Amino acid sequence: MKKQKISEEIDLDKKYNNVKTERAYTAVRKYGWLVSILIGVGGQFYPYLGLLVVPIMLSLTVMSAFKGLYWCGNFCPHGSYYDVPLLKISPIDNIPDLLKTRLTGILIFVFFILNFSTGIFSALQAEPGTRLARVGGVMANVYLVVLVAATLLGIAINSRAWCWICPMRTLQLAVYQLGKKLNLTAESDQTVIITSAEDCRECALCSQVCPIELKPYPILRYKQENNYLEEPNCMRCRVCIENCPVDILKLEKPERTD
Ligand code: SF4
Ligand code: SF4
Repeated sequence: MKKQKISEEIDLDKKYNNVKTERAYTAVRKYGWLVSILIGVGGQFYPYLGLLVVPIMLSLTVMSAFKGLYWCGNFCPHGSYYDVPLLKISPIDNIPDLLKTRLTGILIFVFFILNFSTGIFSALQAEPGTRLARVGGVMANVYLVVLVAATLLGIAINSRAWCWICPMRTLQLAVYQLGKKLNLTAESDQTVIITSAEDCRECALCSQVCPIELKPYPILRYKQENNYLEEPNCMRCRVCIENCPVDILKLEKPERTD
């Protein structure tokens, strides 16, 4: 990530107290979690439901080449689960820094890929008549494991804690970098921008409501180079934007000079 030039006195390591707020602004975000339950739980009884993971994985991969983690904040069925039912019972404490490191994400990704590919490989050895159901069963199991792991993290720490170590996030970030190199993001990628930094009330609400603890404030308030958030981890979920009391945050295609 390109370094953001901001004033020296700004403490970027400061932790903000997280605040719960409405995060689901569309029907997909409000009810998408039902798809997670359908695949993860329903797939244990009817494994073909697990095959729905295929279009989901394809969609998030293709979308990330053009729009970064947009999928995570707007379409992910698990994300809807974290932001609607799980949010209600989560303490949303600060997410440990250990979960946010690149190394942790990569290790979880490797662990996931090894397990997933082994499971799929073994399922493909099954009799032709049962092969599809076995593959679906592996995918449904993966979906259920993520649901359980994220729920435990959500109840203990924060409903979006899982997002920092999600293998699909790691995959999307890698594809996003590729998309940028191939200039696929030029017309479609949006980021959070501040329209008038001088009107910022410095309430830090944008950072307190961010589901994954990014810091539109103070970065955008004190950034000197340009007015957009250079943050690949941003899910473009609009929660900061919807909560800014002076309506100076937007989700737009930035005027990049780089
Ligand atoms: S910075 Fe704003 S848009 Fe990005 S993840 Fe946080 S709340 Fe969502
Ligand atoms: S919510 Fe708006 S006013 Fe408050 S710190 Fe963020 S940008 Fe500034």
